[in-house]
Amino acid sequence: MEIHEYQAKEILSDFGVPIPRGGLAYSPEQAVYRTHEIGGDAWVVKAQIHSGGRGKAGGIKFCRDDDEIWKAADELLGRRLITNQTGNAGKIIHRLYVEEASDIANEYYIGFVLDRQKERISIVASPEGGVEIEEIARERPDSLIRVTVEPAVGMQPFQAREIAFKLGIDKSLISQAITTLLGCYRAFRDLDATMVEINPLVVTADNHLVALDAKMGFDDNALFRRPNISELRDKSQEDPREMKAADRGLSYVGLEGNIGCIINGAGLAMATMDMIKHAGGEPANFLDIGGGASPERVAKAINLVLGDKNVRAVLVNIFAGINRCDWVAEGIVQAVSKIEMNLPFVVRLSGTNVEEGREILRNSQLPIIMADTLQEAAEKAVAAWQDYEKNQGQG
Ligand code: GDP
Ligand code: MN
Repeated sequence: MEIHEYQAKEILSDFGVPIPRGGLAYSPEQAVYRTHEIGGDAWVVKAQIHSGGRGKAGGIKFCRDDDEIWKAADELLGRRLITNQTGNAGKIIHRLYVEEASDIANEYYIGFVLDRQKERISIVASPEGGVEIEEIARERPDSLIRVTVEPAVGMQPFQAREIAFKLGIDKSLISQAITTLLGCYRAFRDLDATMVEINPLVVTADNHLVALDAKMGFDDNALFRRPNISELRDKSQEDPREMKAADRGLSYVGLEGNIGCIINGAGLAMATMDMIKHAGGEPANFLDIGGGASPERVAKAINLVLGDKNVRAVLVNIFAGINRCDWVAEGIVQAVSKIEMNLPFVVRLSGTNVEEGREILRNSQLPIIMADTLQEAAEKAVAAWQDYEKNQGQG
């Protein structure tokens, strides 16, 4: 689960990380009111969406008076912001964070991630803050400082000191930098985070260290024991299709193509994706029915996929081990016979009880296109989708 910048800042601040003064606003009036609370003569109005890259997308506005604040807030609120991380759907701005502006002398990057291979928390830092880490890693990989934490002892002050020195932070700010780094680490560990990123961490012209941007992600599987974190969830920032599926105990990945896919298992999803692309199509989504799916569960999955308005053809690809092809077939019949099915519907079943499954589909008399192999299924789905588009075009 992701949270907003202002929420991450509030959390990190409790762990000793210095942040600029700021306040939340849901309206232009509130934004202006915040600047009076904060004081000073320059502020930044920041769109709160679950995405980075807001600056380049116009979601961060620098303002010098009430009028500019009001206009910036009015322009941002309710707008759909498309960044290089959101995809074409973008994210709608419902909240703004208003902060005192900082006069930046130097920008740094610090990130804490879980290194799954090493099974350790690992820290990445760079003296080239402000740009995205992927870009730094691509263009100046040598500038990256990497440190791994030994879980038995936790992050040590000497490790924080070493990072601060390598970043080139001035002596007068080293102790603040150590507090910041150790604070991020403790927040990460104590709250079951999966990532903490401060980009940029800045040294200001008047020689203070502050976290100008902050991002945190949390382990969904640990949220049950972090009620204070789980209540920060903002469903307005999540893909509604994925949310609906999660609420029904199914796992859904929304994509941007036209072929809706029902599969079992992540590996089969990958293989199906490759095969669809190879055949010249693009998946609209993947819905994973998991193992041992009942006919009802399969029917729910189909209804969810059909509810996605980008879907122009459906591909069911099940390789049944724990699953049973006859149950999957029953689910298909349940779902499809209840509606007026006008999209091409391709089914490939394989594995446990496959003959029974095929028999059920044949006997149903439903307009289902059968396939024996994954390749055949993908080709038929793409061809059916192309035909469908052609026919729609003719009116
Ligand atoms: P992001 O684009 O979503 O990562 O949003 P950030 O909060 O990182 O803001 C983008 C960029 O705007 C930062 O990298 C800074 O360079 C700049 N910025 C943000 N706040 C301030 C500020 O208070 N003063 C100045 N001078 N620049 C700022
Ligand atoms: Mn940033």
